[in-house]
Amino acid sequence: MSETLADYVESQDELVREAALALPHQFSQCTYALGPVRQAVYLCLTCPEVRGICSACSIACHTDHNQIELFPKRDFRCDCPTEGIAHVCTLHTQKEPINASNEYGQNFQSKFCRCGRPYDAKTEREAMIQCLSCEDWFHESCCMLRTRPEPRPPTPEPDHHDTPPETVGEGGSANEESDATTGDDAASEASSSGLPPALITAEDYDCFVCRDCVMKIPTLRRIVGTPGAITVLRADVDSPWTRVGNDPSQEDADAHISIDTISDQPANAGDKRVASETSVEPAAKRARTESPSSSGSKPCLAPPPEPLVQDTYSTPDPDWTTISCTGDVFLTENFRDRWCRCDSCLPSLEAHPYLLEEEETYEPPEDPDSGLTLEELGMRALERLPRDRAIDGILAFNSMRDNLRAYLRPFAEDGKIVGEADVQNFFEQLNKARADALS
Ligand SMILES: [Zn+2]
Ligand SMILES: [Zn+2]
Ligand SMILES: [Zn+2]
Ligand SMILES: [Zn+2]
Ligand SMILES: [Zn+2]
Ligand SMILES: [Zn+2]
Repeated sequence: MSETLADYVESQDELVREAALALPHQFSQCTYALGPVRQAVYLCLTCPEVRGICSACSIACHTDHNQIELFPKRDFRCDCPTEGIAHVCTLHTQKEPINASNEYGQNFQSKFCRCGRPYDAKTEREAMIQCLSCEDWFHESCCMLRTRPEPRPPTPEPDHHDTPPETVGEGGSANEESDATTGDDAASEASSSGLPPALITAEDYDCFVCRDCVMKIPTLRRIVGTPGAITVLRADVDSPWTRVGNDPSQEDADAHISIDTISDQPANAGDKRVASETSVEPAAKRARTESPSSSGSKPCLAPPPEPLVQDTYSTPDPDWTTISCTGDVFLTENFRDRWCRCDSCLPSLEAHPYLLEEEETYEPPEDPDSGLTLEELGMRALERLPRDRAIDGILAFNSMRDNLRAYLRPFAEDGKIVGEADVQNFFEQLNKARADALS
């Protein structure tokens, strides 16, 4: 009742803004016509077929179906409008043949990571990491970045009814299944809502590549554990996991690209830290002033391989309970600028272009009119007119807006709700006035 017209207009603008924030993209077009692209892929669990669909189809065609987002998959073509899915595509209505080139990996069977566990948002507590290469998802604990947390407690079974699952009895009587060594860990993890930070966190790196993929890319495999290519290892099965290969910006920033520095440094993991602590500055300076050779084939500038890490790749199918290095790699910021591109390093990178250049991931077009107020929408329309007509248009728009406000004012003052018929009535009056003026 006390709402003024200004309040009314402002609240309308606010609604428009909120709607735009919630859904800034246009989801009116299936991506099928684009062919295979890297895009967010959704798996519909309600439809019986195991097929991936695009984000527009996930919203428009499978609205009330149960779905999981698999995030970006490269070279993927939407299967919603194809014979792969019986459910009718509402966006691309012509039935297309099945996309033979789509890769349907284990994620489409709801299996993830090297452990093959299903993903359950209700019980999963740890973050998962996507491999840049195979685009599968990995648990932090399966990358040895933390111990696997207990899943969120399920509903207690009848015979444990009196014992809340969080509680570990002092004398172990309540939890006969928890042994003396793990009992404390279980108790502290279950009692805190969050988890302790992982050994490597999202701030520490840019891209992750899993061990299986690393093994298929020789140039990448060679640098694992050197500066900017972090991996985790342990001295023996009883020792804690530690990280090796910190960000080069925290160490000698030039060591990895300078052949002078490399020849000065023995390829020995133990000496490395000493070298960077004592002679970072001189080595870096000298590398800059003494220019590299300019004739013939380029020398290889890759850092010397980390022997402790390289050992791990000699076992193709490791036992994950006894390994001493995971062989996964966490590549730090700007890793694409640091590759040696000599004749022997470049080919295996070129076979995996995403290692050399960040790929485009398709996103639905931004709704060009999202986030605009009614007046801005009017201005947007006017910008598309020729100049003289635009000026007329601005005058006409301003007067129309003033008239509309004047027309709406009584509604606002009386606290009346403006209906569609009222707005229609306004424009009918406007058209009539214009017709009268022209005749
Ligand atoms: Zn689609
Ligand atoms: Zn569906
Ligand atoms: Zn569809
Ligand atoms: Zn796992
Ligand atoms: Zn992988
Ligand atoms: Zn090289």
